[in-house]
Amino acid sequence: MSSWECKGDDGEPDHDWKYVSDWGGDPGVIGGTFDCSYLECRVCGEEKHDHPNPSEYAYQAGDYD
Ligand SMILES: [Zn+2]
Repeated sequence: MSSWECKGDDGEPDHDWKYVSDWGGDPGVIGGTFDCSYLECRVCGEEKHDHPNPSEYAYQAGDYD
């Protein structure tokens, strides 16, 4: 079993992120939800949950027009 690693030219991780919109229930709030969207690499499937603003990888607003 081999693991693919996404490496850029400088050796830094270079994942091809896509935005995954996800919501979870908030146990502290009745009927509450929280945004737990995250990023997933199209190439290796790695997930990144600590990006401060994953929606910047989302498709631009207006795609639904
Ligand atoms: Zn990757």
